[in-house]
Amino acid sequence: MPVPLFPVTLSKKQQLSSNTLQLSFELVSGESDRFSFVAGQFIQLFLEVDGTLYKRSYSIANSPEDFNATGQIEVALSFVNEGIASEFFQKAEPGITINIAGPFGALILPETLPGQLVLVGTGTGIAPYRSMIPQLTVLADQGVSVTVVMGFRFRQESIYIDDFAKLSEVAHRICLSREADLHADQYEHAGYVQNQFESLNLNPEQDVIYLCGNPGMIDDCVTLLRDMGFPPRQIKREKYVYSGH
Ligand SMILES: Cc1cc2nc3c(=O)[nH]c(=O)nc-3n(C[C@H](O)[C@H](O)[C@H](O)COP(=O)(O)OP(=O)(O)OC[C@H]3O[C@@H](n4cnc5c(N)ncnc54)[C@H](O)[C@@H]3O)c2cc1C
Repeated sequence: MPVPLFPVTLSKKQQLSSNTLQLSFELVSGESDRFSFVAGQFIQLFLEVDGTLYKRSYSIANSPEDFNATGQIEVALSFVNEGIASEFFQKAEPGITINIAGPFGALILPETLPGQLVLVGTGTGIAPYRSMIPQLTVLADQGVSVTVVMGFRFRQESIYIDDFAKLSEVAHRICLSREADLHADQYEHAGYVQNQFESLNLNPEQDVIYLCGNPGMIDDCVTLLRDMGFPPRQIKREKYVYSGH
């Protein structure tokens, strides 16, 4: 069965960091009632470049509650040199219409969690956790310990930090792998996201770890977590593999 497509208008472009753009899309009139998603899911964007149709996947970065209130779907796009979608959206002006499909993906939160919840993302891989913020605060209020571990190379590449920093009930850590001068008082840590596992007092019997972003990071984290005794069912992941066509 063909996947249903939704026409959307690019309503806003916003520079989030030195290498990341936030794109806001609005469903064309009459379509918004047909589209809904669960926090953590992604959409596919269809782009026509020089007569060829390309398909690219992006996590939805705003919450379903925000979408219901504003009608906007936000995604964060990190630039890839000479990438088809990267170049398309660098040039695109608000007002253009494209098709999207979705939502897809199973990186979603269960209703209740037994132990602590650790959400690990590198680069735009933290976008799905931003979509989960209303759910995360509910879980935290119910007594679940929630920590968001974000990884970037440099501070100037970081995105959405303030959205997590203002949540008093949700802990966050920012891992900067190539930044020399760290601000420990702003929850910055040196090195990679997986370096944080040791100090999180993880319990492989109860805790659930979410991993999202670059495939190499996810493989490294899974290896470490398995060595720590985590069963596969307690590790959820979304790899940002690129299609290359
Ligand atoms: C489920 C899923 C969710 C995703 N969510 C997001 C998201 O929220 N935000 C986001 O920015 N991306 C996300 N991606 C990746 C995204 O779909 C594109 O692959 C990415 O934006 C590159 O597309 P492009 O057309 O600009 O580059 P392409 O034209 O596909 O690539 C051009 C060349 O650049 C290289 N390249 C492509 N991607 C990378 C990379 N990541 N690292 C190093 N080299 C690369 C390859 O050599 C490729 O041949 C997601 C992918 C998946 C599968």
